[in-house]
Amino acid sequence: PSSLSPPVFRFAPSPNGYLHLGHARTFWTAHQRAKGQQGTLVLRSEDLDRSRVRETFVEAMIEDLHWFGLDWQEGPDVGGPFAPYIQSQRLGLHRKTLDQLIGQKYVYPCRCSRRDILAALAAPHADDEDALYPGTCRLKDGFPALPSGDGTNPSEQTKVAWRFQVPEGESVRFLDGHYGEQCFVAGRDFGDFVVWRNDDTPAYQLAVVADDHAMGITEVVRGADLLLSTARQILLYRALGLEPPQFYHCELVADERGERLAKRHDSMSLRSLREQGKTPAELRELIQTE
Ligand code: GLU
Repeated sequence: PSSLSPPVFRFAPSPNGYLHLGHARTFWTAHQRAKGQQGTLVLRSEDLDRSRVRETFVEAMIEDLHWFGLDWQEGPDVGGPFAPYIQSQRLGLHRKTLDQLIGQKYVYPCRCSRRDILAALAAPHADDEDALYPGTCRLKDGFPALPSGDGTNPSEQTKVAWRFQVPEGESVRFLDGHYGEQCFVAGRDFGDFVVWRNDDTPAYQLAVVADDHAMGITEVVRGADLLLSTARQILLYRALGLEPPQFYHCELVADERGERLAKRHDSMSLRSLREQGKTPAELRELIQTE
């Protein structure tokens, strides 16, 4: 992006639960950083996990964001001004992205058990995903492979996932806006990861890269639980010949017992805090880190 165009940030919640204090911290940070740099904000609903997504969570998400004092400038103008971009309506772009990765043999078809796949599709928040894929279905000719031409068409495949083959032993480095210099080793800190699920839907890693790029996002603000995923995504940007955005990871919000907030912490959702009489200003006080 040229230095003349304003930076673009995004809120990218998944509508499979109510927003909690952790989201509030991440989104407030994104909002503050966007404002500080005369940037703009995009809202994107990451609704690929069809089994967990509920329409009521999309409505609640918009209401909670407004209540908390967050606004955004860009929306697709479908369903009203500033309606979110809906990730599940962008499958054409996702499939094109997959085809490009297949064409260049950065990914391989994987027929491993449902258990493996489950661990990966729960991304980005499953700890199981950190289990390294043993490489059972890997291609023989290593990384990066020559452009192929075996005519494999993903849409003709059923029950096949596509996995990105990581460059074994290579250090993936980036400068995080909050945590500073980061370094993760491919094949040690994370293994080959799923970019397309065996139910024929895009996996988080692929969809987020394709969408962030298409929307011209210049800085991704997200929770620290996604640091490893950022390293995976940097490999995807490289394979696709794209410039990665800047990254800023926020510290996770913990409950009274020091446990990371999850969807089950209903008492920490913005809605129930609001019902308990908390004001947005009080909550902002709580999530301010520095
Ligand atoms: N949709 C993801 C979530 O709800 C965040 C994705 C991202 O920031 O890249 O946590």
